[in-house]
Amino acid sequence: MGRDASVVMQRCDELGSISEEPDRLTRPYASDAMRRAHEQVITWMREAGRAVSRDNIGNLRGRYEGAAGANGTLLIGSHLDSVRDAGRYDGPLGVLVGIAAVQSLHDRGMRLPFAIEVVAFADEEGLRYGTTYLGSTALAGTFDNADLDRTDSAGATMAEAIRAFGGDPGRISEDRWSEGDLMGYIEVHIEQGPMLETRGLPVGVVSGIAGQSRYQMTFTGEAAHAGTTPMDRRKDALVAASMFVQRVESLARSQEGLVATVGQLSVQPGAANVVPGEVTLSLDVRHADDAGRLFAAKRLIDLASDIAKHRSIALTTTRTSENATVPSSKRLTSMLMQAAQDLGHPAIQLASGAGHDAVVMAGLTEIAMLFVRCKGGISHNPAESVTEDDVAVAINVLGKFLELMAAQP
Ligand SMILES: [Zn+2]
Repeated sequence: MGRDASVVMQRCDELGSISEEPDRLTRPYASDAMRRAHEQVITWMREAGRAVSRDNIGNLRGRYEGAAGANGTLLIGSHLDSVRDAGRYDGPLGVLVGIAAVQSLHDRGMRLPFAIEVVAFADEEGLRYGTTYLGSTALAGTFDNADLDRTDSAGATMAEAIRAFGGDPGRISEDRWSEGDLMGYIEVHIEQGPMLETRGLPVGVVSGIAGQSRYQMTFTGEAAHAGTTPMDRRKDALVAASMFVQRVESLARSQEGLVATVGQLSVQPGAANVVPGEVTLSLDVRHADDAGRLFAAKRLIDLASDIAKHRSIALTTTRTSENATVPSSKRLTSMLMQAAQDLGHPAIQLASGAGHDAVVMAGLTEIAMLFVRCKGGISHNPAESVTEDDVAVAINVLGKFLELMAAQP
């Protein structure tokens, strides 16, 4: 089993060198780098005894048939695309651990009472077209055809990119799962947070994926001359907005499990000698509990309007997106916990603050996730790091999980 982990580490390095940019890892959807990554992954999937296909959106699917009379399919997946200047484990680790678990069955000549399909999703990060989860929405049957008209920074539409990559943009609806009963979807992923490292644990089981609400808020005051407008006559939109930013932080710090962020802020007219007339900012609110998130979001919007009113500033708030918390399957999660415990690892559950393909796959079947400790909780950064020992634990837990699943009546 130790050998399997070193192979996975080596493969993460190999995929990590396949990039659109010479000195850093950037692997967008349907790019030449993605094509080269696919060539590697197809070879590895075939070595593990699988029939490999690529669907129209560009997901790779490697199918390992079950024993005679097998019923149903378990999906194991993650994504192969990356952000700009990425680390090499966010996404590929889950695909490669899935391949390793099937390889181990294949090497022992074992067939389970169900088929396993390892899915390497084509796009999760949304770097090229600004839309997340392209790959999993196609498989889950929730792909939005309006996205086909989106253009990338070079002006290529998504439909053109799909065609150039070998798919048919008119047949994405056929990518929807149609191979019969599903046993669930399992995703192995780096934690992208510090909890496992803090507790000294190699892996953890995800209890659910935190819901998120996003808003765009505009504070409108009055642009005025910075030299001639007295301080008591100003309607400075930026001062109001900055007071709000501080309230966002203090509210989130005061509530367990709540995270809230202002990540974008634009100031108009944005000149050194003009009192800011208008500020538009983003607000992102997340909590593993939907009621907790909605309560906090409402409280923050109320605080913003109090600040605005007090300073004679107009405020408009638009909700730009809202995703409910996705709970993990109790059945699959308890089997993952059991698998970890059977191998002598204290099993803990933790919520995921980041979104994953599992969010979309939850619309199709039951989901569960296994997190792997990552150094300093750092991700979306070339410094992303996992240890071979922890990867070995993840492969073993997944293998044990498959055994437990096969033993189910
Ligand atoms: Zn990811």
